[in-house]
Amino acid sequence: MMSSKRAEYDIIIGGAGPAGLSSAIFCGNRDKKVLVLEKKKDIGSEPRGETLHYHEILDELLGKGFMKKITLSKTADRTYYAPDTNETIHKTRKTPSLIFDWKDLMQRLYNRAKEMNIEIKRDAEITELILDGDTICGAVYKDSQGNKSKAFAKCVLACDGFNSIIGRKLKLDYKDKMFPIIKCILNHGNFENKSFKYFFIPHGSLDYAPDFPPTIAFIFPRDKDNFEAGIMIQKDIANMLDLPHLKEADITKVWVRLKDEYPVFSEMLKGSSISYEKLTGIPMTGPIESFVPHKGTVLIGDAAAFVEASGGSGLVSSMIMAKEWVNLICDALENTKRDIWSNQNIKDMEHKFKKTKIYKKIKRKAKIYNWFRELLFKKWHTKEEIMNKWFWVKLIMKFA
Ligand SMILES: Cc1cc2nc3c(=O)[nH]c(=O)nc-3n(C[C@H](O)[C@H](O)[C@H](O)COP(=O)(O)OP(=O)(O)OC[C@H]3O[C@@H](n4cnc5c(N)ncnc54)[C@H](O)[C@@H]3O)c2cc1C
Repeated sequence: MMSSKRAEYDIIIGGAGPAGLSSAIFCGNRDKKVLVLEKKKDIGSEPRGETLHYHEILDELLGKGFMKKITLSKTADRTYYAPDTNETIHKTRKTPSLIFDWKDLMQRLYNRAKEMNIEIKRDAEITELILDGDTICGAVYKDSQGNKSKAFAKCVLACDGFNSIIGRKLKLDYKDKMFPIIKCILNHGNFENKSFKYFFIPHGSLDYAPDFPPTIAFIFPRDKDNFEAGIMIQKDIANMLDLPHLKEADITKVWVRLKDEYPVFSEMLKGSSISYEKLTGIPMTGPIESFVPHKGTVLIGDAAAFVEASGGSGLVSSMIMAKEWVNLICDALENTKRDIWSNQNIKDMEHKFKKTKIYKKIKRKAKIYNWFRELLFKKWHTKEEIMNKWFWVKLIMKFA
């Protein structure tokens, strides 16, 4: 049995992003004693996804109607640009994407958790995991002055995002999963049509960066004439094509050129001013195999690479995942007859999670999306070949 004599908390949550704060709220619903450790001083200071499809979990977490209140605009329209940017595919999805400001969402989740008396420590970066025998029983964290503290719990939820220290400490292989992505918020662009726009940029199509990996550039509307733009680099395909390792500076250099001169894309950005710009990472290609990679901890959200493979739904899926796992963990903690971290119990919890609708959905979408990206960027590969096959791309996009 795991020794819990030192455990001050039922659950420690590493990270106060959407996954961490949602987990905290669901733990609060189950009357658990929780400590959230967040490395940043301010909650929501680094925007990530700012579009989502409505799901009832939003009402459960934020309060009924709150999502509507913070929605800046919405659209169900998508436009995909061929590598020559002359050909396009237009699509209207069944449900619209809601566009909002990250800070509004994060502040609300934070306030809801605080209303439930959840203890949230900011400026508290997890640096080490503490073991009791073979079970994780706590974490070491430090503030920006370098002062270290320890906290102990019966369970540590790793909700610390795409670059998860907990995942890395447990030697999880994120190599092919985490794609570099630039997020840029712009004001006053030349951006009339309010659909989401995607540009397919295959390997070899940029003469100033012939070895640059296949990339998808995007533009999303926000409100009025404000919008978001960026690029997402297809890192797994780059590895399959054996392309040279990219440094941050290589990505930034290409991003500057794309903003200035990539056909159609640069036109839409013309005259705009940038209010936020950052190179970060996003998990793609599908979730990790085991959500309990070590006794004592469960990975949730981006730390588990639990993003719908198009990048379109890391937020809602992280929230649903948080609910499913918090319920499994709380049930196990309340069952005094069974050791939560016995091999059999871990197996049972993983099995139950893998039976959930959300897990099956994420797995299915990853399979389809990975197949499509591999076909486009690896099998067809070049700009010319993709243009030759554009009819098939259209057909696939129609049914995808
Ligand atoms: C550019 C971009 C665009 C995206 N677009 C969309 C979209 O349109 N729709 C959508 O649904 N999803 C989108 N996503 C994905 C979505 O944002 C993520 O899936 C979601 O934020 C995952 O939440 P999380 O809590 O797991 O991770 P994060 O949001 O990354 O939160 C992790 C938290 O952990 C903290 N942390 C990190 N390390 C430590 C540590 N050592 N100790 C303590 N705290 C730590 C971080 O500061 C952060 O607060 C996008 C992501 C990016 C990067």
